Amino acid sequence: MHIKGNFLIIISGPSGAGKSTLTARLLSKCKNLDFSISYTTRKKRTSELENGHYRFVSINEFEDLIEKNAFLEYEKVHGNYYGTPINPIEDSMKFNHSVLLDIDVKGAYNIINTNHFDCISFFIRPPSIDVLKERLIDRNDMSLEEVDRRIIEAKNEIMKSIHFDHLIVNEDFEECYKEVEKILASF
Ligand code: 5GP
Repeated sequence: MHIKGNFLIIISGPSGAGKSTLTARLLSKCKNLDFSISYTTRKKRTSELENGHYRFVSINEFEDLIEKNAFLEYEKVHGNYYGTPINPIEDSMKFNHSVLLDIDVKGAYNIINTNHFDCISFFIRPPSIDVLKERLIDRNDMSLEEVDRRIIEAKNEIMKSIHFDHLIVNEDFEECYKEVEKILASF
């Protein structure tokens, strides 16, 4: 797939909605689409590569980047800082590429409400809260207290889905992907 124009393509929604799987598929299918690698102060999971999905930094390093205005947006999500660096986005745009962001709902909302870039925003939602809980437990990378915390946040986040251009229910991943692809191909 080739995306015409250069957009910020925002994929947001609760943790466990399927954002990472969706972003990975989009990146493998679109040649002129770059991934925005966020900075985070969260600990690296064993399955993760340094500079793959995230750049892992200390709280001091992160706060230094805030001071230097290095972020398009940043938020504290589940107790850790996460931020979208602005320079790599500008570099991608120079090459006429679009940039894909996998970010939380507050961060997405901040970007949607500023007019720096042309955005296409997607809110990915699980078919139900029960399914979301099952998915988070199956991931096996957080405690049950953490799962419960994320479920409470998910309920608040779902109420903000009206601010997004497209609301996609991820019940069946292939259907969800096709829907997103169809929208992006229509530009
Ligand atoms: P996780 O720690 O499970 O990888 O991500 C937790 C949440 O942080 C996810 O909802 C993810 O989309 C979000 N996130 C990742 N990077 C950023 C970022 O740069 N900014 C914001 N606001 N959220 C982010």
